[in-house]
Amino acid sequence: MSINRERLQSHLEQLSQIGKIGETGVRRLAHSEEDREAVEVVRGWMAEAGLKARIDNFGNLIGKLEGKNPDAPVLMIGSHIDSQPYGGRFDGTAGALGALEVAQTMMEQGIQSKIPVEVICFADEEGSRFGKGTFGSRGITDQLETGEIERKDKNGVSRRQALESFGCNPDDMERSEYSEGDIQAFIELHIEQGPVLEKKEIPVGIVSGISGPLWMTVSFEGFAGHAGSVPMNLRQDALVGSSEVISQFDNIVKQDPNASTVGTVGSLHVFPDSRNIIPEKVEFTIDLRDIDINRRNQYENELMKVVKTTAEKYQLTYSIREDMRNDPSYCNHSIKEMMRIESEEMGLDAPELMSGPFHDALSLSQVCDYGMIFVRCKDGISHNPAEYASYQDIAEGVELMYRTAVRIVQDEIRH
Ligand SMILES: [Zn+2]
Repeated sequence: MSINRERLQSHLEQLSQIGKIGETGVRRLAHSEEDREAVEVVRGWMAEAGLKARIDNFGNLIGKLEGKNPDAPVLMIGSHIDSQPYGGRFDGTAGALGALEVAQTMMEQGIQSKIPVEVICFADEEGSRFGKGTFGSRGITDQLETGEIERKDKNGVSRRQALESFGCNPDDMERSEYSEGDIQAFIELHIEQGPVLEKKEIPVGIVSGISGPLWMTVSFEGFAGHAGSVPMNLRQDALVGSSEVISQFDNIVKQDPNASTVGTVGSLHVFPDSRNIIPEKVEFTIDLRDIDINRRNQYENELMKVVKTTAEKYQLTYSIREDMRNDPSYCNHSIKEMMRIESEEMGLDAPELMSGPFHDALSLSQVCDYGMIFVRCKDGISHNPAEYASYQDIAEGVELMYRTAVRIVQDEIRH
């Protein structure tokens, strides 16, 4: 292994002490004191490694390694170091500190980089404090919503105020944005946050892309009545109709057992929500994700048909609200190919898999080519202090990131 496993592990262990909760959890909310402390500690490590480190006006920490051509578009590598309020030690940190390890190893190995390399710890990936995540990565790529920094946390502190006390200047964010073409490629390593690699008993996977989520809210409306007196054949029960759709939706997304499609109904509102009244109105959410947009569209159509026929069957009216529709975003083919070749050389034989969750890489995918590496995590648990990935697995993933990055800074990627 080229990377320094012990150093990587020691960095991860030290960072997990900041905002530590319980035995294995962390709480480092975006732009908080704990977040600031973590950023300072990592900035110190960047400086020790010989990177030129800065904190931008979004609260991102960026460490730069110059290349032979200082004006060339950069290779950016990294992830985030903020956490959920009741989070784990490896979500984000594995990729952020892994990226630092990659850059440090490049210097130690005397790799002649043609282009600058930037190690980045993105600010507020998690989004739990202000209700909207991937702040830092959307920030540098000019994807923030207008007025977004006026959002408040539950104590009434606005993002603007939080950024100011973090030491940023929220009135000069433009200065921290990257222009088109400034970033050549982005690589992120992240724990899988799912059970696929563990099932396959392989430590590392190559991400094919980030699935595009389709979010909708379906409402059924029938007619309320006394649960004791309205005969069954005269009912217009919105919950019975909804439950049929929910169960059919599950069948639709499961029809191809080899597909990566996932579908979830995670929230249900019943009105008037009383044990002796026939449900009059039911609202439920749809979360449908797939790396294959055609298949996702097909399943969406099938779901629409089920909603329509079920409404007719139970004499319900219905409406469907679209809450979010994102296309899947595919990893760059030549980066994936480099990862595949290197992983074979390492004897890993890393499989390709889709990312269901968002990551900062999704923001970057709008402006540059990107690649992602997943590391196996125990029982797929994340956003939980019980989250666990072995240091050995993380080291394998970081080694793969290192080898990929070395190829990118020495060759040109095919776009
Ligand atoms: Zn994360």
